[in-house]
Amino acid sequence: MNVYDSNRITDLVKDIGYEKSKDQNNVDCYVINTCHIRDKAKEKVFHEVGRIKQIYLNKKKPIMIVAGCVAQAENEEMLKREPFIDVVIGPQSYHKINKILNNFQKNKKETETEFDTISKFDFLDKIKNSDSNISSFLTIQEGCDKFCHFCVVPYTRGPECSRPFKTILKEAEDLIKNGAKEITLLGQNVNAYSFYENNNELKISNLLNELEKFDELKRIRYTTSHPVDMSEDLIECYKTNKKLMPFIHLPIQSGSDKVLKLMNRKHKVEDYINIYKKLIKINPLIKLSSDFIIGYPGEEKSDFEQTIRLVKEIKFINSFSFIFSSRPGTKASKLKEVDNNISKERLIELQSLLFKNQINHNKFLEHKEIDVLVENKIEHQGKFFGRNEYLNSVILEADKRDIGKIVKVKIENSNQNTLFGKINNNMKAA
Ligand code: SAM
Ligand code: SF4
Repeated sequence: MNVYDSNRITDLVKDIGYEKSKDQNNVDCYVINTCHIRDKAKEKVFHEVGRIKQIYLNKKKPIMIVAGCVAQAENEEMLKREPFIDVVIGPQSYHKINKILNNFQKNKKETETEFDTISKFDFLDKIKNSDSNISSFLTIQEGCDKFCHFCVVPYTRGPECSRPFKTILKEAEDLIKNGAKEITLLGQNVNAYSFYENNNELKISNLLNELEKFDELKRIRYTTSHPVDMSEDLIECYKTNKKLMPFIHLPIQSGSDKVLKLMNRKHKVEDYINIYKKLIKINPLIKLSSDFIIGYPGEEKSDFEQTIRLVKEIKFINSFSFIFSSRPGTKASKLKEVDNNISKERLIELQSLLFKNQINHNKFLEHKEIDVLVENKIEHQGKFFGRNEYLNSVILEADKRDIGKIVKVKIENSNQNTLFGKINNNMKAA
């Protein structure tokens, strides 16, 4: 979502004469768009500001803006801790950036951290999305009302808010005109999307079905979804929607019902397995990936073993796993933490299993022909970059004319994160 937001900030500031610079050593304004999901993110921001400060030691200082969720959460504290920062803007206020830049006065610090999501969307809807990537992001929903006990999102992104249905389709049309062949719908809880038009509820399934009708669009994805919102109509899309990819990032966090309850996740492991079973009944090739939190307060050895059991059963691909990071203001921040050494050991064990699944999945694709959407040429290499249906990176030998096409690629070898192959010219796909 920060990639999407950063692109929109670039679109906004064009109106007052700024443009994205390729040379970070000579800019008038520097924007760092930040994430606050784990504690390390905050420290990375200060580290990055320190690095930029060094670049401009003997030069005209750029206007230094910190945007995003660290800005929202830390607010004026950031200005006090690092005087090089001039402005902090929360994720629901960045549409005000032009006003801030126009009125900017040296030595006058500014914070803008209102939860103004509806007016942000209204404002952004009037400005064309200029993203011209083959694979583009499109935010449809922001914020969260679920309040998992470990998570800062409800406090930094604010309450759940869905964009109007028609404006999303209009933006999709613009992205497709710009050249997008794949669109990923985004939201903190993307499948909780809900918008009422003439007393009629429109959901993510309606959006997916409308997007399918755009001829030029070849692939549709969405992320991140919550198990509680995997409704029947959404699952049904995997039967009917030809462009929906057979890969879903569906975080479960833990394989223990006890831990899920402590986390306030509002579902059980069995509910998750039932969703998985329904999906693979529709299409046995559907694969899931997940997020896992290890060492959540109260997680015992037996809980962790249940997570391991679940990973063996579902064989997730491309998952994310982290040790619990205590976030200020959340309910879990008041709980006793698991010994860090134990958490580290558990994380290593879980990751070695997850990585094994990933490697096996990639190995399975070796010597097979798979569909790859070619996205771009890799600079300084004669090779091209694309992705398969499961979002794996593929490095391939191709031609400039293949960019934007789905081609049949014969996979020659692979490692944990990447597949390598060649286009089979006798079998161009689309
Ligand atoms: N809404 C999605 C869901 O509920 O599954 C996830 C969105 S959250 C922004 C992304 C991921 O960050 C979570 O799935 C979780 O694994 C991780 N995360 C959030 N808070 C965390 C914390 N305090 N410590 C470690 N990981 C955390
Ligand atoms: Fe955070 Fe996702 Fe839970 Fe919302 S549902 S509080 S975004 S982890």
